[in-house]
Amino acid sequence: MPHTTSSDAIELDPISAALGNVLSLLRADDRGEVADYIPELSTADPSLAGLALASTNGRLYTAGDADSPFTIQSVSKPFVYAIALADHGLEGVLAHVGAEPSGEAFNAISLEPGTGRPANPMINAGAIVTTSLVIAESPTERFDRILGVLSAFAGRQLDVDERVFESERSTGDRNRALGYLMRSAGSLVSEVDDAVEVYFRQCAVLVTAKDLAVMGATLANNGVNPCTGDVVIDTTVAEQVLTLMATCGMYDFSGEWLLRIGLPAKSGVSGGILAVSPAQYGIGLFSPRLDERGNSVRGVEISRVLATRFALHAMHHTERTAPVVATTSVRADLSVVTVQGDIEFAAAERVLLVLDDVASGEATRPSVIVLDVERVTKCHPVAIALLDAMAARLRARHVSIVVADPLRRHIVPSASNVAASVDAAVAHADQLMHG
Ligand code: GLN
Repeated sequence: MPHTTSSDAIELDPISAALGNVLSLLRADDRGEVADYIPELSTADPSLAGLALASTNGRLYTAGDADSPFTIQSVSKPFVYAIALADHGLEGVLAHVGAEPSGEAFNAISLEPGTGRPANPMINAGAIVTTSLVIAESPTERFDRILGVLSAFAGRQLDVDERVFESERSTGDRNRALGYLMRSAGSLVSEVDDAVEVYFRQCAVLVTAKDLAVMGATLANNGVNPCTGDVVIDTTVAEQVLTLMATCGMYDFSGEWLLRIGLPAKSGVSGGILAVSPAQYGIGLFSPRLDERGNSVRGVEISRVLATRFALHAMHHTERTAPVVATTSVRADLSVVTVQGDIEFAAAERVLLVLDDVASGEATRPSVIVLDVERVTKCHPVAIALLDAMAARLRARHVSIVVADPLRRHIVPSASNVAASVDAAVAHADQLMHG
C-alpha cells in the first residue's frame, strides 16, 4: 500500500509504488526450488523477483526485476491454443484436445480413455497436440507463426534462448513419450519429432514479466494489444483462452488458485505466472523458485496479496453503478474532476490518469484541482491509498487538491482542503490561487 510519506510514492507513480510494496513484503520468501529437470533452467538466479501490471488502456506499471528475461515455458500454451482455435474453431480443436482440468501434474499422462484425447491444452500432452494443430507448410513455418503471434501479444519481437531449447531437446524424453502415446491413440496427427521440436522451441521463447503483463492485457482487451493497437486474435478466441486458463492454467492447483486468487492464469517451470483480470489488466510475475506443483512460490504468494489488496477476484462483484470519471473546466486554469460510482483498483487507476493529465496541462499549469467525490458510492481501501498517494505526488509538484466531499468520508485522507460542495470547493480553490 503506498504511503504518502514515502519518497517512493512521490518519485514513482502510485500504482508502481503499491506493486513495489507488495513485492518487498515477499522478497525474503526463499521457499521452493529452481527447476532442474531441464538442466539449463537450473542456472537461473533464484533471487530474482519481478512484477508488472499492464492495463487495457495501455499503461504499464512495474516493480523489481520486471525486465529480467526468462523462457516462457508453459505460459506459451494459452497463446498457441489461441492460434489453434483461430485455425480450426472450438469444435475442431475439441476433437483433438479436451477442456477438463486433469487434477494431475503438468507432465502427467492424462489421456481420455477411448479417444486418447489429452485432458486439456494447458498440460504438456494437450499443448503438444495444440502446437501440432497450428496450420503451416512445415515445422519451421509453424514455429515462425507461433513466434509471430507471441510477439504480437507482447508488442515486441521476441527471441529464442537456444541454450534452453537445446537443453530441453536433449532431455525431453518424457514429452516425446507423451507424443508417441498420443500418436498411437490417434489424437496427435503429426510426426512426434516435428510436434515436440516446435513445442520445445515455443517453450524457449524469452520474455520478461513486463511482456507477460502486456500479453495478458491483450487477452483482457478482447485480443487487441492495448499498447500497439494490433488486433492479435478475435474476441471469441480471447474468451475461450481465458476460460481454459481459469479452469486448467495452474495444473493441479487450478481449483485452489481460482478459489483464492480468482483470476484466469498460467504458470511455467521457469517461474513465470501470467494472470488476467478480464477487461481490466494483465499481470506478469517472475520468480524462479517453484513449489512441488511447478508453480512459482513467490509468484503465487504475490498474487494472493494482490488479489486481496486490489480486490481482484473475478467472483467479487462491485455494485451496479458504473464508475465514471469526468473532467469539466471551470476556467482555463481550474478543472473539476468528478468521480462517481464504486471506486476500486481499476477505476482508481483511471482517476489517477485523469488527475495526472489535468495536472500536466501544458498550457495552463494548474496549481489547484477540485476533486468532486460527492457521488462516489463506495471507495475500496486500495483506491483510497492510491488517491492519497497521488495527492501527495501532486503536492510535490506544487498542485493542491481541494476535495468536494459533503459527507466527509475521507476519500483522500491526507487532504487538508475539504469542502462541503463543488461550489464551495471552487471558491476555496480560488482563494488558494489568488490569495
Ligand atoms: N517445456 C516444459 C516441459 O514441457 C514446460 C513445462 C512447464 O512450464 N510446466 O516440460
